[in-house]
Amino acid sequence: MSLHLARVKMGGRLTFTERFSDSRMPGTIVDMHVHTVRGAADSSLTPEQLIEEARRIGLTGVNISEHDRAWDDHQIEEFREQSGLFVSRGMEVSTDVGHIIVVGLTRYVPGIRKISELRKAVDEVGGFMIAAHPFRHFFDPVHFRRDGRPPFDLTPKQAAELPVFQLVDELEVANGGCTPRENAFALEVARVLGRRGIGASDCHSTQGVGCFVTVFEEELESPGTGPSGQEQMLALLRAGRYYAGAGLNVRQLQPFAETVAFLK
Ligand SMILES: [Zn+2]
Ligand SMILES: [Zn+2]
Repeated sequence: MSLHLARVKMGGRLTFTERFSDSRMPGTIVDMHVHTVRGAADSSLTPEQLIEEARRIGLTGVNISEHDRAWDDHQIEEFREQSGLFVSRGMEVSTDVGHIIVVGLTRYVPGIRKISELRKAVDEVGGFMIAAHPFRHFFDPVHFRRDGRPPFDLTPKQAAELPVFQLVDELEVANGGCTPRENAFALEVARVLGRRGIGASDCHSTQGVGCFVTVFEEELESPGTGPSGQEQMLALLRAGRYYAGAGLNVRQLQPFAETVAFLK
């Protein structure tokens, strides 16, 4: 598993954390895909536990992404105040081409189960769309046999042409619920597409919070009054000013891509 390997120094080279720890503090470190008891029947993570774990590991932001529903203003505001974290309102939308993490929508809009409708709704608010765990189970023959489909044998270049990637802005290259192989393949596809890739835990319990993260180049301001931190996050997402990170929860934050190169 890459997280364990990430602890090992690379042939005497300094790790990312050592190189940058005193000279260049990262901006806000955000887990972009988090489920809590408030919005996911299969999650046992309470908002209080999320705060506690974020503090313990040094996570400074979360994108709350419940299934097909967004936290309301009051819930978001209360959580910001309680946690002191940067809190982004996201949503994981189930669509005809898979799960999509959305930033920018404040509520579920009827019809967005169709990805083309989701794209329209997100464009109207200047939001951002991320394909979640795009290759989960793709290398599992049982999965394909069950669906009566031939096994997945696309190259990264061919996979990059799948319809979903023409309609999203980004894809998760590091998802805590995916296997190392699925994540490594997603990273290769992201490279073909010229995207940086998003890191996120997809956690449903305390365990796993922040195992993969997205590190923003700037510190994100928690919105309250004044310019919205949500807008700031969207601007950085659009500008590609972030990278997918791994190892925060084992105190070895480094770019996810470095851990993948190391695995090969
Ligand atoms: Zn999902
Ligand atoms: Zn999820």
